[in-house]
Parts: sequence; structure tokens; C-alpha cells
Amino acid sequence: MLELATTKVHDEERQGEAYAPFGNDPNPYKRKFYIESYGCQMNFSDSEIVASILNKEGFGATRNFEEADLIFLNTCSIREKAEQTVRKRLTEFKKLKRRRPSTLIGVLGCMAERLKSKFLEEEKLVDIVVGPDAYRTLPQLIAEADGGQKAVNVLLSREETYADISPVRLNSNGITAFVSIMRGCNNMCSFCVVPFTRGRERSRDAHSIVRECQELLDNGYKEVTLLGQNVDSYYFVPNGPSPSTGLNVEDGAKAPSRWEGDERAPGSDPITFARLLEMVASISPDLRVRFSTSHPKDITDDVLHTMAKYENICKYIHLPLQSGSTRVLQLMNRSYTREWYTAKVDRIREILPDCGISSDVISGFCTENEEDHKDTLSLMEYVGYDMSYMFFYSERPGTLAERRYQDDVPLEVKKRRLQEIVDLQGKLSHQSNKKDLNKLFKVLIEASSKKTDTDWMGRNSQNKVVVFPKENKDYKPGDYVWVKVTNCTQATLLGELV
Ligand code: SF4
Repeated sequence: MLELATTKVHDEERQGEAYAPFGNDPNPYKRKFYIESYGCQMNFSDSEIVASILNKEGFGATRNFEEADLIFLNTCSIREKAEQTVRKRLTEFKKLKRRRPSTLIGVLGCMAERLKSKFLEEEKLVDIVVGPDAYRTLPQLIAEADGGQKAVNVLLSREETYADISPVRLNSNGITAFVSIMRGCNNMCSFCVVPFTRGRERSRDAHSIVRECQELLDNGYKEVTLLGQNVDSYYFVPNGPSPSTGLNVEDGAKAPSRWEGDERAPGSDPITFARLLEMVASISPDLRVRFSTSHPKDITDDVLHTMAKYENICKYIHLPLQSGSTRVLQLMNRSYTREWYTAKVDRIREILPDCGISSDVISGFCTENEEDHKDTLSLMEYVGYDMSYMFFYSERPGTLAERRYQDDVPLEVKKRRLQEIVDLQGKLSHQSNKKDLNKLFKVLIEASSKKTDTDWMGRNSQNKVVVFPKENKDYKPGDYVWVKVTNCTQATLLGELV
């Protein structure tokens, strides 16, 4: 179950989720598309962009692939298991393709980018292969495939941010939405495929982000999560080119997070992530703002002070640790030490005493020994994470680690260390939740509790799930309520309305 490592947060419950048809859409579509998404939130967000592009081309969404003229799998390469799932899923479309040869089958996302046209050789029934920066060309690619040719576009771009495309929301609860603020990543973490599959970092026009968040609020949404592989290096220059480093990721070179040689037009102040947060938070105190993912080397005091200044910026930071050993962090190319990381956490606690912190942790990276592993456990104890995404390392083709290091920690050792990490995190989560007993939290109601219709489920600012009885009061999803915590489990706070 627990496998490879990534800083990208995978919501296991959503893997393979199909795109829902547009609500109350009266248009009679001649052709229908079906998209299934895998991997991180970025992919789910991209499926919304793809849906928007296809809709403009006159395609309606369906959740039943049997009636689709176009079937897309938006894929993930971060784990071997994720790729196997996609290959298995493709075989399930074989029968349909035999019955209706005109149905087009396309592969989107990271796996498409990693395998490129090789995909077409390996999976004969695939008609279209499209990388994450080429979705605008989908209409042409579909036309080519309609004409009987196989169609591929896996070009990575230095500019594409899809800023002007209003995503059609995927299976939304109508309350919380993800807003993509940048694409790609310039950090060459040695275990990660993202720099190769998603290309170099680009920041989206800040004003288009604010516009999208305003529209979401106007449509009844109450929470936005600003999304990027490394949000702290967001840097947008109005009227200027977006950050570009001129480095080729294939070189394996470390790219600077900030734009060097800045030649912006006079009077156009650059917008940093702290400034962007402020701009989004200022839309309305009723709109909660979250963000993911932060990089420990890049998160600034400015961001922390902005979080402190605005009540509606949630007090929660996902700050992936990966390893507590400075030696291993160096091999991972994470650009910080154990001491740097603890100093960052101290700073967060100083400026934002009530801030929730979560992490990603990898066990058994190349050369990791028992001392390194103990360093990870002790750092986890030091921070007292509320939650972590935990994996054991498994090598991915094309990464720096694959080229440079031997994957030399035996599987059973990786698994045993992972289990120790999981057990410790369970203890830390429970301790963290117990500290919240008797406290009052402002909770945004998201939906009825999964277990019973008589309870609401929502989240507090620290991103903890809070469940409480509805008590026949006239609340609805999207309302803010105050809840007193009366009990807890490892994963959930239980409370009552006050
Ligand atoms: S910072 Fe970039 S390279 Fe490093 S793990 Fe995240 S996405 Fe991958």
C-alpha cells in the first residue's frame, strides 16, 4: 500500500475519479468525453482545464466511458504502481475499442510526457498522447486522430500557464476549489520526476489568479487552495516575462528559484508569493485561502507574516521534510540541512503559534543507514507533525537518483523503517489532536459526515477534519460555525456546535 515517494499529495480516495458532467447543462452534445484522473492535485486541476478546452470544442462530459467518443486517462508517473494502474485500465478499454473503433483513447499527463511516442508502440490501442503543456493543441490532435493518424504532442513549454482558461470544476463540492498558480519545478530533487515531466517553473499571471478566485467566490465557493509544486518560488512580473532561468533540466543543474537578470519594465513591481497571498486574501474575509506545497528552503518570513496578518489565510503549512538526515538530504538534492529545517519550524511557531504543520517522509532512500533513519524519527518528534504522507523509496526511471546512486536499501528494511515512521506519525497525530480538546474552532462546513447524515464534516484553519452533530440547526455546506472539541481520534476532531 505504501510505496514510493513524492512531495505531491495523492488523495488515494480520488485515484481514477471520473470527471462529472457539467451540472444542469442544457446543451445537446454530439460527442462526449470521459476523463479519469490519477496522481496529485495538479493532475486533477489539469483535468478541469482539459474539460474546459474540450467543452469549447463542443464535447460534453460523461461519467460513463461506454458512451464516450473520447476517453482520456490523465496519468501520473510518480510511482510505479500508478503507471501499472493506468496500463491495466487501458486493457479494460480494449473490448470497447473493438466494438466501436471510432472511439478515441488518449493519455494525458506525466506518463505521456515520460514515455512520449513510445507509449503508442507499447499500448497499441492508444490514439493520442499529450503532455501537460500541450493541452491547448488537443482540438488539432483529436482531428488528426479522427483522420486515422496517431497524434502526439509532448512539447514542454517555458510559458504555458493556461492563465486564460477558466477551469470547469471537477466533482466539486461547490465549497472548496484548487487554483493553479504555477507550473513545473526548477528544484532537481534527485528522487523526483516532476522536473522532467512537467518542465521548468512558470508563474501564472497574478491578476488572472485573483480573477479566478473572485469568480469562485461569486459562485458560492468559500475556500481556495493555491496550487504549485513549489509555491514559495512564485514570482510574477506584470508586463514582463515570467521567470526563466535558461537552464536545461536535463543537465541536472540546480536552477535558482528567483529570476536572475531581472529586466522588468519600470513601475511594474514583481509579485512574490507573499504578495499574491495578500491579494487573494483581500478579495473577501469570507474566502479562506490555503496553499500547497511549500519548500523548506524557500518559505519566507514575508509569507509567515502575511499569514499572521489575515485571519482568512489558513494557519496550515505542508512543509515536506523527506529525511531528517543532512547527509541524505544532500543526496536528495533538497538544498537544506536538518538544522535549517528545524530553524524554519521554530520560525513558523514563533510567528504563527497555532499553525498546523504536515510533511512528506521517505524511508530507505539510497544509502540510508540506521543513524539516518533515527534522525528522521527524532526530527518528526521535534516538529510534532499533525499529519504526514509517508512512503518508502522506489526508484523512478530518468531521475537523478536513478542515474547517480544505487537503490541499495533492501526492501524489507525500507518497509520496516516506513512502519516505524507510520507508527510514530500515528502517535504524533493523536497527541496533536488531544491538545485541541476543549478548544473552540471556526469550521467551514463542507458536507455531511461520511458515516452519518446527522453529522456535519468540515475543517478548521489548521486543516484538521472536524465532525459534529447537526442538531437540527439550519446550517448548510459553505457556512462557518464555531465548534468546541469534545473528543478526538487519531485522524478527526469530534465536537459540538457552540
Ligand atoms: S520540489 Fe520539485 S523536484 Fe523537488 S520533489 Fe517537489 S516537485 Fe519534485
